Amino acid sequence: MSRRRVIEKAAREERASAIRRCRRCDPCGWLLGPDRTPIDPAVRCTHRTPTSPAVRDITVPIHEPDLYYQPPHSPTDPED
Ligand SMILES: [Zn+2]
Repeated sequence: MSRRRVIEKAAREERASAIRRCRRCDPCGWLLGPDRTPIDPAVRCTHRTPTSPAVRDITVPIHEPDLYYQPPHSPTDPED
């Protein structure tokens, strides 16, 4: 294998690993929309994690509602 081919192979693997690490694009490097499908028109992903605090991870809920919350029992509970 020539040195040039080694360099090309390394560059290709670097791109592939950037796509694997990136959660904003499909396996071909196209940006995905909020529904995880490629946006239209297609845009090449830069694989950069957004640094703006306004852009949050869409997989993390802003607030997890506490469905099992029960108010603490009071001594004057009418059921007693
Ligand atoms: Zn990406």
